[in-house]
Amino acid sequence: MFQNAAELLKYVQDEKIQMIDLKFIDMPGIWQHLTLYQDQIDESSFTDGVAFDGSSIRGWKAINESDMAMVLDPTTAWIDPFMAEPTLSVICSIKEPRTGEWYSRDPRSIAQKAVEYLQASGIGDTAFFGPEAEFFVFDDVRFDQTQSAGYYYVDSIEGRWNSGREEPGGNLAYKPRYKEGYFPVAPTDTMQDMRTEMLLTMMQCGVPIEKHHHEVASGGQNELGFKFGKLIEAADNLMTYKYVIKNVGKRYGKTVTFMPKPVFNDNGSGMHTHQSIWKDGKPLFWGDGYANLSEMALHYIGGILKHAPALLALTNPSTNSYKRLVPGFEAPVNLAYSQGNRSAAVRIPLTGTNPKAKRFEFRCPDATCNPYLAFAAMLCAGIDGIKNKIDPGQSLDVDIYDLSPEELAKIPSTPGSLLDALKALEADHEFLTAGGVFTEDFVTNWIEYKLDNEVNPMRLRPHPYEFSLYYDV
Ligand code: GLN
Ligand code: MG
Ligand code: MG
Ligand code: MG
Repeated sequence: MFQNAAELLKYVQDEKIQMIDLKFIDMPGIWQHLTLYQDQIDESSFTDGVAFDGSSIRGWKAINESDMAMVLDPTTAWIDPFMAEPTLSVICSIKEPRTGEWYSRDPRSIAQKAVEYLQASGIGDTAFFGPEAEFFVFDDVRFDQTQSAGYYYVDSIEGRWNSGREEPGGNLAYKPRYKEGYFPVAPTDTMQDMRTEMLLTMMQCGVPIEKHHHEVASGGQNELGFKFGKLIEAADNLMTYKYVIKNVGKRYGKTVTFMPKPVFNDNGSGMHTHQSIWKDGKPLFWGDGYANLSEMALHYIGGILKHAPALLALTNPSTNSYKRLVPGFEAPVNLAYSQGNRSAAVRIPLTGTNPKAKRFEFRCPDATCNPYLAFAAMLCAGIDGIKNKIDPGQSLDVDIYDLSPEELAKIPSTPGSLLDALKALEADHEFLTAGGVFTEDFVTNWIEYKLDNEVNPMRLRPHPYEFSLYYDV
């Protein structure tokens, strides 16, 4: 919408916009915001930033050093479609006001450093990312606290949970069959109008929209598509994508979740991430190697596969993430690459003979990741692969179900839990800190935060399924 601060400030004056909503991402990946009256921003808001208290933000500063500044990025502005008063939304990065430096735990600043690392390496000047985040839509009432949490769990354990599939007023019978949600027309598809509204609303917010469809799970799983973009732009767009989808869902009396595996025994929700590197306007991943990939692309893939166990601590950072990464649901379990095999972590889409379309898709990530951290980490792994000429090994083009147990055992698999991924990150994170993209402090803090707030609290709670297994023993 705007190229610079002056253009944004002029628009606010000309259009008499009263409210400015500053949005920034916290460490675990949720947008936080602060709304200002228009006279609270000026030229300096785009350089020094707007002061705020960072002490209560998850994973950030201690109370004695809590002053922080949000620096507005004028290129990210749009009128927020969910606010009653015309309000200009602007995405911000975070600075330390005392030193004027970008805050080392601010995910958007880390993403910026990853881009600078790519440029300084001489490998390329632009990294393109194209995330495809899937999600489930459920009826709001299912999450009403007055409903027993046990009901939700027990039903989902049995794989019978039908949320999102029922119409107000009862069952209208046209249910997608098990694993046949992809993608019959109405009346089986009941979410067409909602998805169209989601897509058109995100277009108003500057997201370059492409398409929408129902997904494979038996009901209520959907995916919208937007055009790939430069690393930070793609992460900004992904945040807008989630914000718009959740809020349009709310208009329809629905609730949306990007949880990777909300329903037992049905497909989970991934966030396959397409990637390529360019230099001077030229694509660098096209070549005469496997599947028309360049040597550089194969080395990038080598870096991704080598560091995958550690990488997943950032791209699949929830305990629920690992309930998706199991065989049988189009989610990756093999740390290998292939042109066609959807069980492989890296898939090379068939894109014909256009060098500009040449890319690969890392299928592991899910949308519980913080996209700025996930994209930055994947780029770091790729750069490490290119710098050290890491061989990605043999492609996995066989049907893995035909492999003998001995052959299968040779293919490394994705970590089995968040704890395993965090241990891998502890042992392998030099590729993240090498270019000064992530700090040692960030990595330590991330591991501690995830253990204290997610892994251990989960481990301490009796699981509903344990009642089914052990209650009568
Ligand atoms: N839902 C699958 C996953 O978990 C992907 C399905 C698809 O888009 N083909 O990755
Ligand atoms: Mg897709
Ligand atoms: Mg999909
Ligand atoms: Mg895909």
